[in-house]
Amino acid sequence: MLTLKSFTLTEEDCLTTLREIRWSNGLTCSSCSSKNVIKHGNYGIYKKYLCKECGHVFNDKTGTIFHGSRVPLRVWFFIALTMQSGMSISEMSKILGMYYDPVYRIVKKLRESGYHKVMSTKLKETAGTGKVGGL
Ligand SMILES: [Zn+2]
Repeated sequence: MLTLKSFTLTEEDCLTTLREIRWSNGLTCSSCSSKNVIKHGNYGIYKKYLCKECGHVFNDKTGTIFHGSRVPLRVWFFIALTMQSGMSISEMSKILGMYYDPVYRIVKKLRESGYHKVMSTKLKETAGTGKVGGL
């Protein structure tokens, strides 16, 4: 049976993919879009950045659909991938051991932003195969 444990992508793998998606055209300030941005320490496993133009401090998740979410990135990626394979929200919540509502909210955010497609495409590109993370 499929479980989150059998999903082989780590939190770091998912974060690397998020960075590749988000900063594909280079780092830009999430407030003023300036490219005059430098590294500014860490926030947990996330990198923090400082905009030398406007002084804004932000991290990899600031201004994205993942911002403010306490759900690990690998759960977001798991949901994105299983959405692509047509799994239902109730099935996902059973596998993840989460309530229906939070899973529903994640699916909604992913669907509205189209991020689930971008995430699975990027992962498959990196893996060089249709199978990603053991799914
Ligand atoms: Zn700025």
